[in-house]
Amino acid sequence: MRPLAPTAAGLLALALLAGCGDSEEPATADAPLQVAVAFYPVEEAARRVGGDRVEVTNLTPPGVASHDLELTPTAAAALEEADLVLYLGGGFQRSVERAVGNRAEGSSIDLLGSVDLRTVDDAVPGVVGEVDGTELAGRRDPHVWVDPARYAEMVEAVRDGLIAADPGDADTYRTNAEVFLGALRDLDRTFARELAGCRGRVLVTSHAAFGYLADRYGLRQAPIAGITPNEEPDPRSLAATARYAKANGVTTVFFETLVPRKLADTVAREIGARTDALDPVEGIPQEQLDAGADYASIQRDNLRRLVKGLACTAG
Ligand SMILES: [Zn+2]
Repeated sequence: MRPLAPTAAGLLALALLAGCGDSEEPATADAPLQVAVAFYPVEEAARRVGGDRVEVTNLTPPGVASHDLELTPTAAAALEEADLVLYLGGGFQRSVERAVGNRAEGSSIDLLGSVDLRTVDDAVPGVVGEVDGTELAGRRDPHVWVDPARYAEMVEAVRDGLIAADPGDADTYRTNAEVFLGALRDLDRTFARELAGCRGRVLVTSHAAFGYLADRYGLRQAPIAGITPNEEPDPRSLAATARYAKANGVTTVFFETLVPRKLADTVAREIGARTDALDPVEGIPQEQLDAGADYASIQRDNLRRLVKGLACTAG
């Protein structure tokens, strides 16, 4: 006796049963893409370009400095499970790079791979030893997002990554990206206009986060610490930076809110300069986010402080 062939009705019932088993999860076509991002600037890019088609998890908690991030178990799990991971390679956050390398499936994009990278500046005269960059691949400076024009290139890479991971929503991603890119181009033009006529050209910063911004708008960065804020200079280097700043007529020394300002205060006192804050947008504290702060608002605030600190009159 032959076994009974399954009837069409039976197959349909099986299919329905299988469908019912998945009913707690939304159908794949409608579920937002799960995107894990390395730190704030990438988070904003993914949210603005992805809109409601993505669910974004930032691996760096709000207000935490992003360099040398140690992943929490929760963040590591989010990274592991994400459909797409957007991060910066080249030694910026090694724990993220390691975890990306260990992912079983899903795609990941090193956003530094699509941007033209500058080499870390040589130290100012008299600064002892390698001030920074020695541990980064090819002494490349990772702070691309601080320059609005290069950040726009990053946003384009985010757009392309989302389209590749979710081609069905490509039109949405393109449209959203155009809006954000337009705002960034506008920001770039404003920076260029207002920094065109500054008496001061030397930008003394807490750590070497502003090299791309300085390059783009014709300034020269003199960082007190290295590429990562925790590389503290020795007293001789600090004195050399102060001498260089004084020789170049620096009247404002810029500190950062996410790192201790003690060294900036020391240099400022040494040369009789003022201090002011400059934010490299590496992480935004929760209370600032709640108050509506974002990349553009922080950069416009930076610009106001630069115009004042460098005595710019063109704007
Ligand atoms: Zn930095």
